[in-house]
Amino acid sequence: LYPDVNGGELRDKLAEVYGVDKEQVFVGVGSDDVLAVAFMTFFAGDKPILFPDITYSFYDVWADLYNIPYETLSLDEKFRIVNEDYYRENGGIIIPNPNAPTGVEKSIEELEEIINENREQVVIIDEAYIDFGGTSILPLINKYDNLLVVQTFSKSRSAAGARIGMAFGNKRLISYMNDVKFSINSYTMSRLTVAAGVAVLEDEEYFKKTCNKIIATRERVTGELGKLGFAFPESKSNFVFATHKEVPAKELFEALKAEGIYVRWWNKPRIDNYFRITIGTDEEMDALIFFLKNFLSGRN
Ligand SMILES: *Cc1c(COP(=O)(O)O)cnc(C)c1O
Repeated sequence: LYPDVNGGELRDKLAEVYGVDKEQVFVGVGSDDVLAVAFMTFFAGDKPILFPDITYSFYDVWADLYNIPYETLSLDEKFRIVNEDYYRENGGIIIPNPNAPTGVEKSIEELEEIINENREQVVIIDEAYIDFGGTSILPLINKYDNLLVVQTFSKSRSAAGARIGMAFGNKRLISYMNDVKFSINSYTMSRLTVAAGVAVLEDEEYFKKTCNKIIATRERVTGELGKLGFAFPESKSNFVFATHKEVPAKELFEALKAEGIYVRWWNKPRIDNYFRITIGTDEEMDALIFFLKNFLSGRN
């Protein structure tokens, strides 16, 4: 038997767990697949789509691939999205909340203003990191027919290998995405993945436990980093975007790499003195802090 083209029981379970109608749910092979379908479905016009200059690295890749014009809008000096920048003619908007790699969360009220100012365009809110302390905008899909909320099993649900992502929006948006998906390949999600996804959703206790663990480790580690002279915007995700008051990020990145400790560093304007530390296990984070302590004291 081929799998159910609509995600079968997984779609039913998502509707139940997230308190929406089944017709308001789209499932895909990771949220990268969901976002690619959404770009093809909603952003295929002549007007530029808008997203922040510092953000998830795939948005400009898809825009280029699908020949979608785009404009990137600068975050302010505190890495915040400036609402007014998004009140202009456009072909659609995509904003990750919390943003990556900064971890900065934008309030629902501010996001709602952007959605309300752009009623003729689809506004996608990419909530890949929402479960690490953020507030989801999902309930507003019933108020705004131009809002699409995208989430994933890859981060907070610890199931990146299963490749499951989902979008929530009004029935019409979801049916258009399915039309596009069915034109390419209807059978992207296997029966095994559907079964695994349902099992993941049924284990709410494990989900809560792991999210709380990450949040607790993040809070402990940011406290330690602060004591070592690092500064960072408040993170609502499973990483911290840090800069040191004296030592250049590139030097720290290279020293950590030589030690077998991998953080992400981008050689890009505005963020080249920051690096992103993913929150791992307590043991991994202890190794990081231990190394940084020694490195920084040895350097003076
Ligand atoms: C990780 C991530 C995704 C994609 O994750 P999938 O594994 O494809 O679900 C999408 N958007 C953001 C902002 C991410 O960080």
